[in-house]
Amino acid sequence: MGTPARKDFQVAIVGGGVSGLVCAIALQRAGVSVQLFEAAAAFEQIGAGIGIGANAVRALRAIGLLDELLKKISPSELRTRGFVYYGGLGDNQKIFAYEAHPEDKGIGMHRADFLEAIMGVLDPQSAHFNKRCTSIVRSAQGSRRLVINFQDGTSHETDVVIGADGIKSAVRSFVLDGSDDRITFSSQIAYRGLVRYKELQAAGFKASVVNDPVCFLGPSKHFILFPLRNGELINVVAFVARYDVPIGSAKLPPGTPWVEVVPKEEMEKEYEGWGPDIAALLKCMPEKPSKWSIHVVHPPLDSFVKDQVVLIGDAAHAMLPHLGAGAGQGLEDAYVLSRLLGHPETHVDNLGAVLKTYSSIRRPRAQMIWNMSYTSGTINDLQGAERSDVEVLREKLRHQFDPVWQHDLEADIEHAVSQLRTEGAFAAHSL
Ligand SMILES: Cc1cc2nc3c(=O)[nH]c(=O)nc-3n(C[C@H](O)[C@H](O)[C@H](O)COP(=O)(O)OP(=O)(O)OC[C@H]3O[C@@H](n4cnc5c(N)ncnc54)[C@H](O)[C@@H]3O)c2cc1C
Repeated sequence: MGTPARKDFQVAIVGGGVSGLVCAIALQRAGVSVQLFEAAAAFEQIGAGIGIGANAVRALRAIGLLDELLKKISPSELRTRGFVYYGGLGDNQKIFAYEAHPEDKGIGMHRADFLEAIMGVLDPQSAHFNKRCTSIVRSAQGSRRLVINFQDGTSHETDVVIGADGIKSAVRSFVLDGSDDRITFSSQIAYRGLVRYKELQAAGFKASVVNDPVCFLGPSKHFILFPLRNGELINVVAFVARYDVPIGSAKLPPGTPWVEVVPKEEMEKEYEGWGPDIAALLKCMPEKPSKWSIHVVHPPLDSFVKDQVVLIGDAAHAMLPHLGAGAGQGLEDAYVLSRLLGHPETHVDNLGAVLKTYSSIRRPRAQMIWNMSYTSGTINDLQGAERSDVEVLREKLRHQFDPVWQHDLEADIEHAVSQLRTEGAFAAHSL
């Protein structure tokens, strides 16, 4: 279980999704006293496939969770994965194969497998369920301590609150001084489903999805497929974007759920006339795929922190999923924050400076990935010169993942520590 707590401050995490759970474990291992409060009755094993890129794999390895995950899903799941692009229309011509650097090893897995593999690592006494946070307030005027209020009428007092409560975050409103207007409909939807690879092949699907994820490109629409559970299952995400409705300019009609199940015919209509692989794929999709109206945090936050309240994961920077990078950014947040809070020189009197430094290091990186994820969607949806010039398309596809996957988190942490020394929050000598 965790290292005995050795800090003079306490941390509470609101939200036990991928970001919150990993952050709680990382803090416990760093000797920080942490309590996690989740709105649901248990760690929710819902969702679909998630791709964990090389950057996030490095964060998990550094936290010491990678082996736990690989035990659950099989060590062979950690491998170099490129991305193969095909035209969605016509006869599904291969357009480009992105070859990942051999050291950039990633994982494709079901979100349920991820949570199941690591939930047992957290000290069970630190996890509290049916605790929906409704507000955060200061414990008393002039105090830096904070009180988390829950829907069931109870509350919890602590020194630091980490908001890991996803895009609909209740904690974000504290960081934004009570006026949270950042949940924005992206004007993009995704149909999702899992299909058996054997059935896909039997239906005449030709592209190989055994190792590398594949993407079928088309005007304003594209498909992403990646293998799960050693290639037995294929995670399918089919996007439809409305570029004539810019992000933030339209809301869903009142009462429309963000996620709903729809008849497969709706999907078939969207992709009518696409190539033979897509026709085969549509035959194999579940009769009722789920339809996600994708929301994002936009415009971006000026800071991920206010006082001793700090945001991680989708609560801070929910983004479009076109680079499969959202959960990975949450894992990067969790790792950097746990290293800074667990640093030997962090104590109750310099928490404010440490949290501000976390924000100054993480915000530009997460925002860059947010922007790149949007741009990646426009490339996959052939929104520029790539629509008529395949060489332009290839060039744009060539280096898409490098800045996401090839990032040095240790250098970020060193930079943060040196910033804290320069500002006087940590001693001027280097350890
Ligand atoms: C179609 C699609 C495909 C995607 N594919 C990928 C991919 O391939 N790779 C990738 O990295 N990312 C992907 N993502 C993004 C990824 O799913 C998210 O970035 C990630 O799940 C965010 O994790 P999180 O822990 O920050 O938030 P969440 O997973 O939303 O977890 C938040 C947790 O907080 C709890 N909670 C909420 N409100 C409260 C409250 N008030 N009080 C207490 N608890 C609360 C919730 O119950 C939940 O457990 C995809 C997203 C979509 C929509």
